[in-house]
Amino acid sequence: MDFHGNYRMLIAGEMVDADRSLDVNNPASGRPFAAAPDCSAEQLDAAVDAAARAFRTWRHVPLKKRQAMLLRAADVLADNVDALARLFTQEQGRPIEGARSEIMTGVAWLRAYAQIDVPVQTIDKGDGQWIEVSHVPLGVVCAISPWNFPVNLSIWKIAPALAAGNTMVLKPSPFTPLCMLKIGELLRDIFPAGVLNIISGGDELGPLMTAHPGFAKISFTGSTATGKRVMESAAQDLKRLTLELGGNDAAIVMPDVDLDDVAPKIFMGAFFNTAQICIATKRLYIHDAIYDALKDRLSKLARMIKVGDGAEQGTVLGPIQNKRQFERVMALIDDARAQGLSLIEGAPVPENGGYFVPVTLVDNPPEDSRVVQEEAFGPILPLLRFSHVDEVVARANDSEYGLAGAVWSADVAQAVAIAKRLETGTVWINQNLKMRPDTPFAGHKQSGFGIENGLEGMLEYMAPQAIYVPKPQA
Ligand code: NAD
Repeated sequence: MDFHGNYRMLIAGEMVDADRSLDVNNPASGRPFAAAPDCSAEQLDAAVDAAARAFRTWRHVPLKKRQAMLLRAADVLADNVDALARLFTQEQGRPIEGARSEIMTGVAWLRAYAQIDVPVQTIDKGDGQWIEVSHVPLGVVCAISPWNFPVNLSIWKIAPALAAGNTMVLKPSPFTPLCMLKIGELLRDIFPAGVLNIISGGDELGPLMTAHPGFAKISFTGSTATGKRVMESAAQDLKRLTLELGGNDAAIVMPDVDLDDVAPKIFMGAFFNTAQICIATKRLYIHDAIYDALKDRLSKLARMIKVGDGAEQGTVLGPIQNKRQFERVMALIDDARAQGLSLIEGAPVPENGGYFVPVTLVDNPPEDSRVVQEEAFGPILPLLRFSHVDEVVARANDSEYGLAGAVWSADVAQAVAIAKRLETGTVWINQNLKMRPDTPFAGHKQSGFGIENGLEGMLEYMAPQAIYVPKPQA
């Protein structure tokens, strides 16, 4: 089966169109191939109203029953993985295998949240009080997701929020709305009307949502700059907030690594999804003793790896997802060139109007250059020499971001000791990009505010409630 045309929003259990539409481009050609509804302010009100009405009953549906619906949702997505993956490649650009793995990761998250229990605590200290502390859902959640992992990062919100008894209005990025609109259609009959609403729209829809008084909580994934605007808007009525924002992750490579083993892993940790990953390696600190040897291996990989249309056999890295981001990355490369930095360019890329950028390594640029200081979110990676652990830890931590990091060393104890000194929410040892639904993910510093995943992630969609009962003393 393939999905053709006719992308509609899910509002109050109905599939609805809008008066206006947005073009959706295939980034491998730079040309539009479909249109998505551009939600009006009235339709947003209707979605929030439907979610508020549904909340009155959904919050009292027993947890196990809500979780059974998540399991059914997971099965429906798994049954449609091939068609969804093809659509994903068309709108997002990532090659088909990576597209499939994104859908299946969403399935795994839904299944994992179908298992998580929320503990109830009782306090009975024999002092005349018996207290039960439980957690209650917040209400209607406003969920906003970006274009780099449009399905996963939406399901990371849907699964815990709905399991916890909230209802939701979700808006995917205007650059990648289609998969989530189709998923809305696929899940329409699984959840009661109004529990999950999925809308799409242009740049003005996000601010309308965050300012809407009907939401109790905003769960936002996107850039730090937008996250700050969301936080300002949420302050009006103290909406609860989870912000998963940008990163400029450092990886540290110690001199004792097996270079042939780690080079391809480090390469994919930086460039998978054409480097458009919040937790990609964006600054690679390499010990002086192995700098040249690792640089040679990474340069060879850059020249070998095929960059092209994700729908073509053999493509490893697709295009940049959208024109705005393409221009940003090209400006960063031009700036590096203008500064006289030494660039190592990978395999040539198609020149067909698609948003293709060759893999680009920058040979030991100064620490204060833009390519080191800014989150590139595209295939340009600075390789940076270091000599001492204290020095590299200080350089890695010298960032406003604190999302994740990696340490590569044959001496795992040494690597863990270095990891503990990094000011980030996640650190990988001899691996990268790993995420689990049972493990909290929380950016430090300006990379985030709040937690996703695990029980902690689910509790972000709940508030504790303590009930005090007097207890006669014996
Ligand atoms: P973005 O901030 O431009 O957009 C994210 C979403 O916010 C989109 O749906 C957009 O339409 C919406 N939006 C835009 N302006 C808004 C406003 N004023 N109010 C409310 N919503 C608004 O981010 P992007 O370019 O789509 O995504 C890339 C960024 O996301 C990178 O910085 C990346 O590091 C970050 N990211 C973070 C994580 C994480 O988990 N920490 C994961 C993926 C991406």
